[in-house]
Amino acid sequence: MKEPAAKRGVEISVSLDGETSTSLNANPDVVIVGAGSAGIAAARRLLASGLSVTVLEARGRIGGRTVTRLFKGHPLDLGAHWLHAGPINPLVKLGHGRGEPLRRAPVNGHFFVHGRPGSRAQRAALDRAFAMADRAMTQAAKAHEDQPAARTLPPMGPQGRRVAAIHGLVSGRPLDEVSLHDFPSMEYSDNLFIAGGLGAYVRRLGHDLPVRLNTAVRAIDWSGQGVRIDSSAGTLQASAVIVTTPMAVLQQGAIRFAPALPTTIGEAVHGFTQGVYEHVVLHWPDSPFRGADRLASLTGTHRQPPGLLTRIDGTPFHFFELDQPTAAAFDRRDIHAPYRYAREVLAEQFGYRAIQNLSAVYSTAWRHDPWSRASWAVVPPGLYAIRDVLKAPVGERIWFAGEALSRAQWGTAGGAWEEGERAAGEIIAHLR
Ligand SMILES: Cc1cc2nc3c(=O)[nH]c(=O)nc-3n(C[C@H](O)[C@H](O)[C@H](O)COP(=O)(O)OP(=O)(O)OC[C@H]3O[C@@H](n4cnc5c(N)ncnc54)[C@H](O)[C@@H]3O)c2cc1C
Repeated sequence: MKEPAAKRGVEISVSLDGETSTSLNANPDVVIVGAGSAGIAAARRLLASGLSVTVLEARGRIGGRTVTRLFKGHPLDLGAHWLHAGPINPLVKLGHGRGEPLRRAPVNGHFFVHGRPGSRAQRAALDRAFAMADRAMTQAAKAHEDQPAARTLPPMGPQGRRVAAIHGLVSGRPLDEVSLHDFPSMEYSDNLFIAGGLGAYVRRLGHDLPVRLNTAVRAIDWSGQGVRIDSSAGTLQASAVIVTTPMAVLQQGAIRFAPALPTTIGEAVHGFTQGVYEHVVLHWPDSPFRGADRLASLTGTHRQPPGLLTRIDGTPFHFFELDQPTAAAFDRRDIHAPYRYAREVLAEQFGYRAIQNLSAVYSTAWRHDPWSRASWAVVPPGLYAIRDVLKAPVGERIWFAGEALSRAQWGTAGGAWEEGERAAGEIIAHLR
């Protein structure tokens, strides 16, 4: 380990999220690129071990793809909202330990057929289709050869199309663009929510960390000893760097590596496709759904939303989710297109009268955001190995972390946290 940072460091004074002020070290043991879940987890772990850390964050806030905003006084998540895979999600374990206000997500959702509650038999048919699809994919994934997840689905008629649409939504791409070997490894059971929002929780976890906001990293030079990090706020020098930048941002060449990354690593970075999942936030006091936080399956009409989360936290707010094909069809310049689409689909189901007091208050566009460019990274068929390829450090100086590397919790805040901790743990062992 190098000598303590305070003795050596050049210090930069910055304001953290406009709230507190902290001094940052331009010569720490470790630089972390990005203050999302992975970056925050890594920073906490490194600091707890006694190493010095500087986190550089391009945005004017911490949290990355987790962020909570107030709408009419209610906190709503514009990025991650669910804590998936409760038993293995590190954010759940940590939350329980801190006494955070976690609550179980309801298991049963609403089921409507052309605006009316569906029968028990209709609901059972959909449940059966899900079970059949899961069995078929799990079975097929045991084969050596990878293939598109969609190819293994048995013919199931309209129920099958609905199952494929929902799995496509949570995968971030239609199932014919998703690796079968990657798909069933995701654990979606035992979901939780947190009062006040997941973004606010992650932000609490990152409070008081040495983060420099509004600072984009442009280049990482690992040609000599350690690493030199070129950022919009100047150059930093460290023993190691953890890069948590989303894959889609790296693919755009936002960070130049000198020398270039080894071919296997570069190919892995460029192997991912962009997962798309966007919230259209609806305020709908008279919606037909009762209870809080339930998913609604709307069937029997021409267009069906693959995801609708109703009465979030018991409020009149709903998330109408956009999948990749739907979002891709919108003209980027027409910011009202998602609102119109959500209204039309709900009117088709319930009639115009039922949506009279529905208003759309926000529509996310993570796919166009320069610091995310996607909701999460997706592994296409045949590239199953790329998550693991990125876990190997480059020159024992550059570690990658973030949601894209997680095997069992890919695409999630919990997976990003797990990967941030993994990278930090490896650096601690290495520097000692
Ligand atoms: C709409 C939506 C809904 C979602 N729903 C869920 C959900 O319900 N549950 C769940 O678990 N997950 C969900 N996710 C996914 C989850 O948000 C992400 O997987 C997770 O937050 C990613 O964390 P990360 O640390 O890997 O990346 P990020 O959170 O993206 O953090 C990376 C950070 O790097 C910064 N950065 C980028 N480039 C640079 C640069 N050059 N220099 C400096 N900083 C840079 C970014 O600004 C960002 O803050 C959702 C995502 C979206 C978009």
